[in-house]
Amino acid sequence: MIVSKNIDELRNNISELKHSRQQAVVGYVPTMGALHSGHLELVKKAADKCAIVVVSIFVNPTQFNDKSDLEKYPRTIENDITMLEGTACDILFYPSEEVIYPDGATKYEIDLNGLDRVMEGKYRKGHFNGVAMVVERLFEIVEPQMAFFGLKDFQQLAVIRQMTKVRGLKVQIIPVETVRSASGLALSSRNSLLTEQEKVEALIIYKTLLFGRELAKIETDPEVLQREMIRFFEKGNLKLEYIEIVDPLSLQPLAKIACGAHACIAAFCGSVRLIDNMQLK
Ligand code: AMP
Repeated sequence: MIVSKNIDELRNNISELKHSRQQAVVGYVPTMGALHSGHLELVKKAADKCAIVVVSIFVNPTQFNDKSDLEKYPRTIENDITMLEGTACDILFYPSEEVIYPDGATKYEIDLNGLDRVMEGKYRKGHFNGVAMVVERLFEIVEPQMAFFGLKDFQQLAVIRQMTKVRGLKVQIIPVETVRSASGLALSSRNSLLTEQEKVEALIIYKTLLFGRELAKIETDPEVLQREMIRFFEKGNLKLEYIEIVDPLSLQPLAKIACGAHACIAAFCGSVRLIDNMQLK
């Protein structure tokens, strides 16, 4: 695996690989590092579909609205490199902030069609603007044909799709199923900040989603379903931020539970903010 830290180096390495393999399809997996099996699943999917696999690790400051969250975000680059060495990743792009934002993080404007105003958008002001900004910039640098994103970040996936549509980008966005621990906890870099006890307590998120999926078999009123899910969730010890039941495309609340209805949860486990989601029907 080659590690590229700047744009020229990265582009040279990609074009050499295209030449030597006589293949041009680049699959790209953007990450913020602190890699786990969820990230590796994206790399695997990229390798299944693409001749060349590029992974990036960049903890993007513009998507953090909370400075202390940015500061405590886990950074484990040595371990990440070791993990990627064991995968089909060809190139790790590991840029500095200056490489991504040479003029500083200037103003970025995009119409995300309201996707950035619900759920995460309500609680993390400016977060999706920062996500769209960095992913557009990374796409411009890497120029992939396909890019792989986890369904774990369901709203993020919708935002990226909207960004590529608005900007008219050719890259194909491929969703990848959420990878969970054996007990059901969605893998997340933030889980490394949890104690063993908290990891057990955090399972209430997954259990609430399963409960919602069961109840959705007989309950068609989203308000009732949401209320019951909140009641179930509150049997645990986490602090709920929201449980929303939404349309999978618009992310707007549903009038009636129908096929595709999707539940999304955000909650604090101690000081660690966790999110998860599941298709209910
Ligand atoms: P992050 O490093 O948290 O920004 O995540 C990088 C990519 O990995 C995003 O597309 C995430 O949705 C995806 N990802 C994170 N956790 C998981 C998981 N448990 N299963 C599948 N994909 C994931």
